[in-house]
Formats: sequence, C-alpha cells, structure tokens
Amino acid sequence: MRIAKCMSRLGTETAFEVLARAKALEAQGREIIHLEIGEPDFDTPANVVEAGVKALRAGYTHYSPSPGIAELRTEIARHVAATRHIDVSADQVVVTPGAKPIMFFSILALCEPGDEVVYPNPGFPIYESMISFAGATPVPAPLRESRQFRLDVDELAGLVNDRTKLIIVNSPGNPCGGVLTKRDLEAIADVARKHDALVLADEIYSRIIYEGEHHSITGFPGMPERTILLDGFSKTYAMTGWRLGYGVFPPELAPLITRLVTNSVSCTPAFTQWAGVEALTGPQDARRRMVEEFRRRRDVLVAGLNAIPGLHCELPAGAFYAFPNVQGTGLQCRTFADRLLYEAGVATLAGTSFGKHGEGFVRLSYANSVENLQKALDRIDTLVRKLRV
Ligand code: PLP
Repeated sequence: MRIAKCMSRLGTETAFEVLARAKALEAQGREIIHLEIGEPDFDTPANVVEAGVKALRAGYTHYSPSPGIAELRTEIARHVAATRHIDVSADQVVVTPGAKPIMFFSILALCEPGDEVVYPNPGFPIYESMISFAGATPVPAPLRESRQFRLDVDELAGLVNDRTKLIIVNSPGNPCGGVLTKRDLEAIADVARKHDALVLADEIYSRIIYEGEHHSITGFPGMPERTILLDGFSKTYAMTGWRLGYGVFPPELAPLITRLVTNSVSCTPAFTQWAGVEALTGPQDARRRMVEEFRRRRDVLVAGLNAIPGLHCELPAGAFYAFPNVQGTGLQCRTFADRLLYEAGVATLAGTSFGKHGEGFVRLSYANSVENLQKALDRIDTLVRKLRV
C-alpha cells in the first residue's frame, strides 16, 4: 500500500500504549498500580451528568452547529473573559470534541513547510507530532528541573526568529507540572510581538493549580489578537470521555477553524455541550474538592519520592503529575519505567515519551488514591534499592 509520506511524521501518545501493556499484565493476573494515564480518577460531577442526560432525553441527539451551540459559546466567552480579564465574544469561540482538535486544527490552519514552531520539551507529545505532520519544523524549547520546569525565556528568545509562526506555551504544564509566572509570560509576549509570531496557549490545567495563581498570556497588550487559547472540560470537570474542549481565536481565525470542524467531525455532540453549560454555570464544589484531593496526593507522592535515595522530585505547582529525576538509578528512563512496570507492577511513563529533554525523568500521574500511591512508593523504593546493590 502506498501510504502518504506525512503519515511517517505523525507521532503518538505513549500513555495509551503503556496502558495496553499494563492491561495485558493484568489479564495474566498481575496487580498493577496505574500512574500512567492523564485523566482524573473522579466521577464527572452529578449535576453535569444530569444535564447531559436531560439533554439526551430532550432530543439533543442530532447534528448541531459546527462551532458549537450558541448557549455554550456564550458561557465560554463569559467564563474566559472573567478568568483572563479580557474581552471575548462568542464568535471567537470554537467548541470541539476534546481540546486536542484545537491544537490539531490550529497547527493545520497556520503551519506549513518553511515555518518554525517553538514548543515545550518535555511537553505534550501531540505538539511535536502535529508540527511535523503539517510539514513545519519543530523547535524544542527545553524545560529544566533547575527552573522548576518553567520555560527559560532568555533561551526562548534565542530560538524565535522571523520564520517562527507559532510559539506553544503550556501552563500548568504536562508532564512536569511547572507554572509560568506573570513575568515569564510577559517576556514570552514581548518575543512573540517582536517576531510577529502567534501563540498557542494550552491552558487545559488552568484550574488545577496549587502554588500561586494562573496567569494567561492573553492578558498582555497586543496578545488577544495573536493568541489561540486552548482549554476544556476533560481535566477540570473529570470529563475526559465526554470529549469537550474549546479554543478562543483571533476573530479572523475562528471561521477557518470552524471549516476544519465541518470537514472533519461536523460538530461536537449537543448533549455533551449542554453538560458543559452546566459545568461552567452550576455549583463548583466538586471541582474544588477534586483539586484539594490532588494537592493532598501530590504532597504524599512528592515527599515519598524524595525519601527514596537516588530520586529527586520538584514540587509541581499545577496539573496532576510528578516528574521525578531518576538519573541516580543509573538507568535510562525508558529502562527504569519498563522495570517499574514488569518487576514492580507500577505503570509510569518514561520522560522521553514527552521529548528528548525528558531523558532522566519519569512521569507519575497522581490520579490515583493515596493508598495506591503509598503502595506504589513502597514498590518503587524496593526496586531502586535492588538497583543500588
Ligand atoms: N493539552 C494538554 C497539555 C493535555 O495534557 C491534554 C490531555 O492530556 C490535552 C491538551 C487534551 O485534552 P482533551 O482530552 O480535552 O483532548
């Protein structure tokens, strides 16, 4: 079969592959602690589920407008305006099945051979995959442990030039949990303006934050017109399986993204969108409880990792991932992650699943109970001690 060349440039997300390997071990009777997958282990809040069911019963089971139903676009515009302190009109909002298509469609709409895109590394693997797929050149901006995994803005300035079409920022970040400060964002905004680059601000973890507060790059002068803001419901409201995300676009870009929606998925299921309206406008206590529980787990996990000789873990300021340095084990991170899975029964992801600058680290998702995290820590400790003798 003669497959299109661009397919050889399309990457993937290792989390799904490790999940499959962990499930295969479970099928053989092994007990595995799952710290590999990036989704909250909480139920979608009951009021949100009810709104979805009500919409199904009311007949919202047909095609709906490609950019999203007016009610949800209006609520998203209101929510983004209030949380980012900017003016947003509902026309700028495009709703998609999950937030991932926002990065897919934005990169497709903007990037072509000859363009460069600067993206965080280690970072969400789909950035690099989509940049390469579109034929543009991926330019990794390293995230370093010594800077609590915040982008080094001086280094970034050296990576951006007049060929740079897009700069991707992700704060709070996956996989490291780093959170950019207001000053970091201001410096990134200056670089973007200087080189007339657009910014894709992936703010999917904006409401899962433990230290300081979330700042958006859209808040700086001249930035709303050059920023695509990506956010969604998957993480904030434990709605990964509903598939509901959105982008807020500069006005001239929104109709083009809508055309990509029409050409690919047609629309996002309307009943899911009604659940989204309830998530944004209904009570927020379930979300707050979830974040507090994540904080408790983070503290247990990070303290436990730092107590294991040979490991070191920065305290992540947001998201729900720990990204410990495992260089002290003397193993490459992929080998360490494999041994953790096969010998210790703990599923994690090698740092290199998130790009070459992830070597020396593994990602642990703390979307699991404190009891299981304690058990995982004991198992990791046993393996690391075995490696040291
Ligand atoms: N952006 C980042 C940084 C993520 O980690 C994820 C999901 O893991 C997404 C976007 C996509 O989220 P969704 O499940 O809504 O497509």
